[in-house]
Amino acid sequence: MLVVGGGPAGSTIAALLAQKNKHVVILEKERFPRFHIGESLLPLNLPLFDRLGIADEVERIGVYKPGAELISDEHNAATTFRFANNPYLSVGHSYQVRRSEFDKLLLDNSRRLGAEVVEGARVTDIALDGDRGPDVTATSEGTKTTWSARFLVDASGRDTLLTSKLGLKRINKHNNTAAVFGHFRNVPRRPGDKEGMITVYLFEHGWFWMIPLRDDVMSVGVVGTQAFFKERRANLDVLFESAVAATPTLAAHMANAERLGPLTACADYSYDSQSYVGENHILVGDAAAFIDPLFSSGVMMAMSSAAFGATVVEKLLDGRGSRRRLVRDYESKIRHSLNSLSWLIYRINSPLLRDIFMSSFDLFNTRHELITILAGDFYERRSLLSPLRRLQLAYGCLFVLSKFGFRLSHANTVVSADG
Ligand SMILES: Cc1cc2nc3c(=O)[nH]c(=O)nc-3n(C[C@H](O)[C@H](O)[C@H](O)COP(=O)(O)OP(=O)(O)OC[C@H]3O[C@@H](n4cnc5c(N)ncnc54)[C@H](O)[C@@H]3O)c2cc1C
Repeated sequence: MLVVGGGPAGSTIAALLAQKNKHVVILEKERFPRFHIGESLLPLNLPLFDRLGIADEVERIGVYKPGAELISDEHNAATTFRFANNPYLSVGHSYQVRRSEFDKLLLDNSRRLGAEVVEGARVTDIALDGDRGPDVTATSEGTKTTWSARFLVDASGRDTLLTSKLGLKRINKHNNTAAVFGHFRNVPRRPGDKEGMITVYLFEHGWFWMIPLRDDVMSVGVVGTQAFFKERRANLDVLFESAVAATPTLAAHMANAERLGPLTACADYSYDSQSYVGENHILVGDAAAFIDPLFSSGVMMAMSSAAFGATVVEKLLDGRGSRRRLVRDYESKIRHSLNSLSWLIYRINSPLLRDIFMSSFDLFNTRHELITILAGDFYERRSLLSPLRRLQLAYGCLFVLSKFGFRLSHANTVVSADG
């Protein structure tokens, strides 16, 4: 079996299939460690770390993350979501990691479990209809090699090798954002036990993340609408500074910030694929779908889709189970998780959802239930009144009330949902 891409999705599926005695080769274009964005993990990553046997090592390289804090200058308010207060899950924390270290740890672990890993091998061509299965051509140091495999896993991330080649990629126009980010020193952490939390600062045209990393480094990034970036056709530094200036609480925290390297920019639009499984291939992680990083869901979705995908591939290769059912279950899990998150993400710049997040008035106890979603529980369809449905109900009621002039109050309060 051949896996293209050795990020969290590729190394997870490779490790799980190698554990099942499948012959797995990963082709990865970079040599690790390499920089990657996506440093804030979720609690439901932890059971996967246990399964892969890397829980202690992730703890060693990570910063303990007990939750998330949302700050809005417009509301003059802050809301804290503590994972330990989620009503359904036994995991109550996660970690912030440098992806260079984390991804290397995962890739080396897949090697340890029996996968063959070829770094510095860029896949340049895929023919899905080879004699025995897919033929994949990779270039390494100027030499081309063609690999034949029974089954192909596309874990190429936002390069989306297969969806682009097959014309299956659907870009979501509702979520058309861009991001600029960098690492900084001299940015104070949040006080007390909020020290390891991710802080999200809302501002008029988007939001900022602040993620504390080891060695007193703070990762800071801004995600704004394309309109915000286009209106300010400036260089990255000026653009970033203007977003900081538009967010006074964040600007105060960054008053003495010292940047550790150049800023990086990327388009951040969401997309998915029309289908995720073909005759002899499967898409996992960002190669299948990408959604705005507001809820730090990317690595969790990459690793969990890889874990679901490992079961599908194992059964398909062994000729066990109904192919139709395996494919249908896999596709519906991924789509359900995307739908749950996108409802929230599309509305994050709307005044009503921001009011709900920031107000101390908690209609239908939605704020506590929301912690479950924020912890990474995107796949469960628990009941008619799931956490998301409660929020949608509250949103609907408040939307109707807003037509009669009602608005949630929040002025000059610092609210907390931490029980
Ligand atoms: C601005 C921003 C902020 C984010 N913040 C967070 C966050 O805080 N928390 C979070 O969980 N997620 C976050 N994400 C999302 C996260 O980065 C991804 O969801 C996650 O990395 C997906 O893992 P993956 O393995 O699918 O893809 P990747 O991690 O991108 O891995 C894909 C791998 O494939 C390799 N590859 C690509 N093309 C080829 C080729 N042709 N041949 C060989 N190898 C190839 C690449 O080199 C790469 O190593 C963020 C994303 C963005 C854009």
